[in-house]
Amino acid sequence: MMQLLGDPGTTQYDLRFSVLGIPVRVHPLFWLIGLLLGSARPELSLVTIWVGCLFVSILVHELGHALVARSYGWHPDIVLHGFGGFARYSPGHGYTRKRAIWIAFAGPLAGFGLYAIVLCVDLWIRAGLVEDQAWAKTLMSSSAAGGIVFAILQLKFINLFWGLVNLMPVFPLDGGKICFELCNGRGSYSGQSRAYQIGMMAAGLMALYFANLQMYLAALMFGSLAYQNYQFYTQAKRGYQQ
Ligand SMILES: [Zn+2]
Repeated sequence: MMQLLGDPGTTQYDLRFSVLGIPVRVHPLFWLIGLLLGSARPELSLVTIWVGCLFVSILVHELGHALVARSYGWHPDIVLHGFGGFARYSPGHGYTRKRAIWIAFAGPLAGFGLYAIVLCVDLWIRAGLVEDQAWAKTLMSSSAAGGIVFAILQLKFINLFWGLVNLMPVFPLDGGKICFELCNGRGSYSGQSRAYQIGMMAAGLMALYFANLQMYLAALMFGSLAYQNYQFYTQAKRGYQQ
């Protein structure tokens, strides 16, 4: 999702499995940060559901990137850690800008797909209640009802809202990667510095937006992304002045 940190390295507590033939590694920091972000919930069961929703959402997002990379004959793997994760692939022959853009877009797109599925389940349960269906009434009067409502809400929010945020033209978010490929048509430093300039401004605006919503963690994250893009910008500018 957001490759804000580098590869965290392997530990003996890593969880390893594969989905659709793609190897996945989950670093223990992923669970730790997930628990910290969800720790404000009043009940342990809700914290657990929140971490589960985060895990599924980020995995689906990375699978979007990885499956498209694999369709080009490259060999991706997924690492979940810290505040998100990333899908890696070593592009062999046939690397094009169009393919890089499509891989970057496929992550948020997979999340929007999951959002649509969860929305359908939500509407289906609501329709069942309106029509007085026995299964819907049993489900929503069971002890699991609170957890189901909470999970639906979280999955909808993570996959729609963060998917859209991730498409902002801020490097290294997916939208930033797309912007970079679009600006960097001829592989020139001026194209690259333009992409980082856009990233700097968009990240600054996003930081203000989140601060206004009192979402200070997100504001801090975009503030640091604005600074990071500024650093990339000065590097690229130095490159084309030489
Ligand atoms: Zn992504």
